Amino acid sequence: MSKKGIIAVISGFSGAGKGTVVGELTEKYGYAVSVSATTRKPREGEEEGKSYFFKTKEEFEQMIENDELIEYAKYVDNYYGTPKAYVMEQVQQGKDVLLEIEMQGALKVKEKFPEVSLIFITPPSAKELRRRLEKRGTEEAEVIAKRIARAKEECAFMEEYDYIVENDGLEECVSYMHGLLQAIHFSKNNQKELMEKIRKDFDQYR
Ligand code: 5GP
Repeated sequence: MSKKGIIAVISGFSGAGKGTVVGELTEKYGYAVSVSATTRKPREGEEEGKSYFFKTKEEFEQMIENDELIEYAKYVDNYYGTPKAYVMEQVQQGKDVLLEIEMQGALKVKEKFPEVSLIFITPPSAKELRRRLEKRGTEEAEVIAKRIARAKEECAFMEEYDYIVENDGLEECVSYMHGLLQAIHFSKNNQKELMEKIRKDFDQYR
């Protein structure tokens, strides 16, 4: 099999709009998205197995124990983690897989798999981030304050990412992201097996 997918990690401040961007990328272009496990309670409209696999703390700790997660992190008092099996299966089938995860987890993935690309989505300003968090209306003021404080800390680590994409409008951002993901897919680092196959093909002409 010479066709191999890429794994791209997508992070961004909470409220940067990455969930919406990832949703559009899946719908429009067919990217596979890893569904995470979490101990957070479901928000209204969230579905088991679609938004997240909702777990108890004990269940989550068992997954850690069994080495079923690519990475996991604690974020604002809850565990979040990426189940391994699905991601690996998709990549082997040639699909590009998006992992929407926060920064600690992203850096852990990069450490384990250096070939993975890290993409950071940011709103155009801090003020705009605050506006979007307030508009979402699903979080209490205290949680919003925590998320803003967290974003401020995360600013220092943007440098660790391979690509930084501004989200100043959904359609434009989705189109930039698709272009970027295509470029990563066709980079020589991801086409080693194809190059090898072509070289072998030519052996018959010696
Ligand atoms: P939320 O509670 O808003 O759904 O997610 C909170 C944060 O957890 C977001 O930044 C989201 O990207 C991150 N997150 C979601 N799934 C995972 C995961 O599997 N691993 C890690 N490390 N972070 C995750």
